[in-house]
Amino acid sequence: MQLTIVEYPNKKLREISKEVKSFDEKLHSLLDSMYPIMINTNGIGLAAIQVAHAIRVLILNIPDEEGEQTKENLLEIINPVITQKDGESVYQEGCLSVPKFYEDITRYETISINYQDRDGNTKTLEADGLLSIAIQHEIDHLEGILFIDKLSYSRRKKFEKEYKRMLKERKYS
Ligand SMILES: [Zn+2]
Repeated sequence: MQLTIVEYPNKKLREISKEVKSFDEKLHSLLDSMYPIMINTNGIGLAAIQVAHAIRVLILNIPDEEGEQTKENLLEIINPVITQKDGESVYQEGCLSVPKFYEDITRYETISINYQDRDGNTKTLEADGLLSIAIQHEIDHLEGILFIDKLSYSRRKKFEKEYKRMLKERKYS
């Protein structure tokens, strides 16, 4: 499956993703195609809507303590629901759909989720640290929310200006 990353301000990113009901070959093929595109663009998380598929699917691959991103740590999360959230933490986030921008975002420190794996089995996961932050970032994508939506009014204005400039430069370079 040939996939490309959808970038802001493409309106596709604002779509609400639909629940996955069939855990079939089509889903597996999408998941298998999402992994290389995330790795090749140096991402640690990717939601299906970022490759123009509006379904509740996300993948995460957090680097280990040595900073290695190994496929055995790959998480495929379908139809996630946050069941518990606690604490507060600030982390400098980026997004494959908003290239080259990084901003401090406040999120819950720890979360628990229920989700399904690629075969439809129900699972639970408790997450903290970067994994917790990344899951919250990706679940936002399923609701059409981007991390830049969480910026203050003045930071958002500054972002829009800089982003426009970057798009223009990219067009002419
Ligand atoms: Zn993102």
